[in-house]
Amino acid sequence: MSNRASDPLLVFGPRSPTYDFGPAHPLTPRRFGPGIDLLRAIGAEPGLAPEPAGDGDLLLSHTAEYIAAVRRLSVDPLGPPQAGIGPGGDNPSFAGMHEAGAMVAGGSMRAMEAILRGDVEHAFHPGGGLHHAMPARASGFCIYDDPALAIAVARKAGLRVLYVDLDVHHGDGVQAIHSSDPGVMTISFHESGRYLFPGSGFANELGEGEAAGTSINIPFEPFAGEDAWLPWVRAIPATLAAAFRPDVIVSQHGCDSHAWDPLAHLQVTTTAMGEAARLVDRIAHRHADGRWLATGGGGYDAYRVVPRAWAQVWLAGAHRDAPRETPVAWRERWAAEAARYGQAPLPETFDDPPHAGMLLDERSHDADNASSMRAAVIATVVSPALLREAASRGWWQPLGDRTDQPSVELAQGEPSIVGDLTLELLERLALAARTIPPADPAEGRAIIRAALADSGAMPATVIAAVDGATIVGIAMAAPRSHGHGEALVALGVAPDYRRQGLASRLLETLIRRVGGELEAVITVAERDPIAPLDRSLRASIARRMLERAGFEITSPPALAAIDPAAISAWRPARRD
Ligand SMILES: [Zn+2]
Ligand SMILES: [Zn+2]
Repeated sequence: MSNRASDPLLVFGPRSPTYDFGPAHPLTPRRFGPGIDLLRAIGAEPGLAPEPAGDGDLLLSHTAEYIAAVRRLSVDPLGPPQAGIGPGGDNPSFAGMHEAGAMVAGGSMRAMEAILRGDVEHAFHPGGGLHHAMPARASGFCIYDDPALAIAVARKAGLRVLYVDLDVHHGDGVQAIHSSDPGVMTISFHESGRYLFPGSGFANELGEGEAAGTSINIPFEPFAGEDAWLPWVRAIPATLAAAFRPDVIVSQHGCDSHAWDPLAHLQVTTTAMGEAARLVDRIAHRHADGRWLATGGGGYDAYRVVPRAWAQVWLAGAHRDAPRETPVAWRERWAAEAARYGQAPLPETFDDPPHAGMLLDERSHDADNASSMRAAVIATVVSPALLREAASRGWWQPLGDRTDQPSVELAQGEPSIVGDLTLELLERLALAARTIPPADPAEGRAIIRAALADSGAMPATVIAAVDGATIVGIAMAAPRSHGHGEALVALGVAPDYRRQGLASRLLETLIRRVGGELEAVITVAERDPIAPLDRSLRASIARRMLERAGFEITSPPALAAIDPAAISAWRPARRD
């Protein structure tokens, strides 16, 4: 079978198996045997053979000193251990390790370039995903950080990048390398660092300064399974992609989250991994013109799990469902080798049964519950209030159809405040970019329309600042879903109209219209993703404005445990 033009570019070549820490190491190149064989069986042919990246490439994410250290140990593997590399550890030195690590990096970087040139929409590099490597040290079987380097290629081209990491281990290297860049958002789903390497990836690692809110971590308790994992993989990246406006998606599909993996303790299945990959594909098409680089990653059940997980990723990019059964010839070819390594028999289906056939006991049930409750709090902190409310009130779906709006014409005059925006008036108006989330103003306008059209018991109140035929400021409140009073769900002003007191005027008008109690929750998610202010400046502007408008400010304990600058604001009913 040969590749169709629209199939994902498969990155694999003769050098791929040379990334080899030796026969006793868990990250074994033996996985390429059954893995590439199964990919070929479903119609995937390798189309890009990785070659070593040059120093100029590696310097995008690594220090010259570190590259020199790897080169020394590559020539003299018995030399003194340094930079996280040495005998007996996770990253034992081996002859040719510089070339092997640089080859993995080169594969992901050249694949990214092919995507940026428009040669292909999607590429999949199963040997990539070495997400633990740091700027100046090797870590967790990773020498050079190929996902971080592929992201750096896209950044050099001026593009915004959303990185989704599904490996059971925290994507710490990619996060660290890009954590101060507001143009890169990293989202990592993993087993909690309390129990698993690398011991990081806690919810409060949100990024710093202008980039605060662009490092997202969703840790799971040991023994949690797909019932906890998949709903948040569905919800969080799609919502954040709408707010962030990525130009390209990079994802890491480590399959060590699988129930049978020997190194970790989550209970995810190939079925859930397939759905996760298809979800990333949809995000790429909806928000990034289809530009998507997928990598492999961890995965230590090299026969029963890795090949099927890789097949799921490639099939997602090829827009094909997984066949029901794995080929008999593939099973027969690899049965003996799988048995030799205690990973037999080879599964007869691409998808797994629920929980991969393992018992859903009280321990995993409790782990699912605890993980889901924490993920819900994290989602509250990292998602803009308008998108959370719009999704829960049925005004918006994160991966819904694209909409259109009238063209934006800014008169650059003094905007006027429209105290009750109606559907009729909205039909004649456009929404200026970056006034409110989501990043696409047509999508923001569709949310306003749905909020105004909400015929249920909870109609929204919308105040607009209008310049010519364009909305350049919005304040929106809606009745709280539980409790009484109303919630402030949006307050924003387009870039050219900021620093003129417009937000305060919108808020005052909203308070007069609502009359009753008003509550607001402001977290790190409330920012302009294209030109975010420093985190502490953002928080102090919000606090000052709310205080001046008569709100009492408190710190919400559950949210503040993740985002210390989060505020909860409450305003009593007006008395006049
Ligand atoms: Zn891993
Ligand atoms: Zn696609």
